[in-house]
Amino acid sequence: KTAVKFVGAADTDYAEEESRKESQQALQTVRQQLGKTYLPLINGEYVNTQEMINSVNPSNYTEVVGKIGLSSVEQAEQAMQAAKAAFPSWRKTPVQQRAGILYKAADLMEQRRAELAAWIVLEVGKTVREADAEVSEAIDFCRYYAMEMERLEQGYNYDVAGETNRYIYQPRGIAVVISPWNFPLAIATGMTVAALVAGNCTLLKPAETSSVIAAKLTEVLVDAGIPKGVFQYVPGKGSQVGAYLVNHIDTHVIAFTGSQEVGCRIYAEAANLKPGQKHMKRVIAEMGGKNAIIVDESADLDQAVMGVVQSAFGYSGQKCSACSRVIVHTAIYDSFVRRFTEATKSLNIGAAELPGTKVGPVIDANARDRIREYIEKGKAEAKVALEMPAPENGYFIGPVIFTDVSPNAVIAQQEIFGPVVAVIKANNFQEALSIANSTNYALTGGLYSRTPSHIQKAQEDFEVGNLYINRTITGAIVARQPFGGFKLSGVGSKAGGPDYLLQFLEPRTITENI
Ligand code: GLU
Repeated sequence: KTAVKFVGAADTDYAEEESRKESQQALQTVRQQLGKTYLPLINGEYVNTQEMINSVNPSNYTEVVGKIGLSSVEQAEQAMQAAKAAFPSWRKTPVQQRAGILYKAADLMEQRRAELAAWIVLEVGKTVREADAEVSEAIDFCRYYAMEMERLEQGYNYDVAGETNRYIYQPRGIAVVISPWNFPLAIATGMTVAALVAGNCTLLKPAETSSVIAAKLTEVLVDAGIPKGVFQYVPGKGSQVGAYLVNHIDTHVIAFTGSQEVGCRIYAEAANLKPGQKHMKRVIAEMGGKNAIIVDESADLDQAVMGVVQSAFGYSGQKCSACSRVIVHTAIYDSFVRRFTEATKSLNIGAAELPGTKVGPVIDANARDRIREYIEKGKAEAKVALEMPAPENGYFIGPVIFTDVSPNAVIAQQEIFGPVVAVIKANNFQEALSIANSTNYALTGGLYSRTPSHIQKAQEDFEVGNLYINRTITGAIVARQPFGGFKLSGVGSKAGGPDYLLQFLEPRTITENI
């Protein structure tokens, strides 16, 4: 069977003055709503909490975007019990109706597009254009997974004379979704609606720094008609509420996107069979990358420079898909470095909401400090070709380019998740490919080349889940570039692809002798 024909939502065209005005207007409206309180949604009710934290604007950390009520472990347990109570009727709810809620959610997001993008800009410091593309991705996840579930519902027939054989999919049970701050709407939506449409009751524990946006997703799902207990918003500390839900005997599926460290811990904890637990848990974990772009001697350098700049510094390098290593053939190394450095110098660093900004802030003080430490390590290991200054009042880090980096250097092996790039020299294409494959990760990779044999070889031997040839390596689109990696980049199948929903389903075979 071929994949269902799918047409994605169109991004806003900011060349239109009307769109720019609407975006400005939305930022103003959202700004008037800053500082409100967002509480957990448990069994259909917003419940008070003992603990609150502020979610701040990383472009200006004196601005409180929202106050988040942190769920306690007892509240997480109540959510789990509510989910269990809601499951028998949700699993029997016809797929058409479950999918209908997703289609409705997509339409609501489309109507609230400018506003949702504004929340993303202010809560996690993404530029307006990228925030808008993220809203498109969230809409696409809703519509695509709804269509996918309608396809899977058909199941398969393997009838023979005297015997019918039906192959069908049923939900697994309770899904716990632990979502990241870097795609606070798209990834939270994708993991959540996949679990829901497959018939699982779902608890969403978002990253603490993007809990306001997750609360907006909650509003959308409630407005779209999700029944109480079927979906619950459980903001809280990862180490408490997240760990509690991962370890819970009633959890069937855990969908996680985040760091390798946390992903590995979840995988290990989920594997532990606890007293009273009657099933093994399924873990889907997307855990990052140390993504390389190879630029060979035949590359179109204009294209390569632009592609690397965008892949490395878009959202300040805080995408799992971001380029953090560039592996360049000796013959063009000097001219590539010169042009790459010049092009990077032209990027505006500043508040995410400003129309000219290309590099916004990083997410929080921890991230800023961790990235700064890596920059110091890099200085001990390699040459600094560029270190750009950054404004003070937000969590800004100017882009940094290191050159003549050894393939084994710390900055060439560990995921930094910031605007820091290691440029590595290679003597030939084979060596470039070996360097590219020399990390623990296998998420995205890119090649700029006009040599057919190199393009062919990269397809065969470049160990990445998503390989991009002669283009940027970020910005995967639902049902066009299903997204996800292997090695220590993750377990499970690709988001936005035809195998994704299967992970939330239990196949059954029903044979009848007739
Ligand atoms: N899907 C995103 C992209 O292609 C990256 C997702 C992530 O950072 O986890 O850029």
